[in-house]
Amino acid sequence: MQKELDGHRLAGKIALVTGASRGIGTAIARRLAAEGATVACTARTLEPDPKYQGSLRDTIAMIEASGGRAEAFRCDLSVADDRARLVDDVHDSLGPVDVLVNNAAVTFFLPVESFPEKRFRLMIETQVWSAIDLAQRVIPDMRTRGGGSILNISSRAAVKPVGPPFEAWYSEGNSSVYGLCKAALERLSLGMAAELYTDKISVNTLAPWDNVATPGAGAHDLVAEYVLEPEEIIAQAALELCAGDPERLTGRIAYSQPLLAELGVQARSLTGEPIVS
Ligand code: NAP
Repeated sequence: MQKELDGHRLAGKIALVTGASRGIGTAIARRLAAEGATVACTARTLEPDPKYQGSLRDTIAMIEASGGRAEAFRCDLSVADDRARLVDDVHDSLGPVDVLVNNAAVTFFLPVESFPEKRFRLMIETQVWSAIDLAQRVIPDMRTRGGGSILNISSRAAVKPVGPPFEAWYSEGNSSVYGLCKAALERLSLGMAAELYTDKISVNTLAPWDNVATPGAGAHDLVAEYVLEPEEIIAQAALELCAGDPERLTGRIAYSQPLLAELGVQARSLTGEPIVS
């Protein structure tokens, strides 16, 4: 059944979205804010900088221009002290977190044979341990408040390559370590969903069905030859999981377009126009 874009599905909720300075994180932050959440936007790029596309200030300005509420919290998710300070600062400034979206990622596409240990550790720290650490820090408040929602952003790279024989695009993509991080997130989320079920805390992963033309995807040349998905589609799918019934919509390894089809939801822009892929 199609839900109206009524702007109230997350009214009164506090959402923490990582990687909200650009790309998918910005789109999700804007979508959650449009549904009434106050969004804590976090990333490393606080102020606009000509070296990078997007910043937390830009995201906040877009949300406020649409009548939403958001606040910027600078944090390097690869640094443990930053993560601890992030959740404390959000709590002090906005209140306890109801919705956590672990979206940020630093990614290197390199063959396993020559993958540097330092980069491996950075990917694991930022994509996997950070998701666990932030969850550990917000779960007690969610439990006290009678529920919450944790969404981890994944990728179709988590799925094992088909073969043998293996097609050339797979080995040329060098996505084994990236896939490892996302597969870890997916298995983690399934386990957490079971652990937190009676607390009414949903835990899901969501991946774009097709690539999304973000600065990160562009830097990795993932947009040139692929079918692309408008960012509104993954943002809508994220909203469905974050605002869904935690007794029904949890423990999902979801993909944007199939999830929306299953739920019978039409993706919409922030101003309500239908979005098709
Ligand atoms: P993006 O354009 O590269 O944006 C990545 C975000 O993560 C930025 O906001 C960046 O902010 C933040 N980030 C990176 N390292 C960080 C760190 N150490 N501390 C804090 N924040 C950090 O990426 P995207 O394409 O939007 O991807 C978002 C998510 O979707 C990722 O999990 C990605 O794996 C997944 N995904 C994307 C696609 C796609 O087609 N785009 C496909 C499948 C999955 P700062 O640089 O300001 O810190």
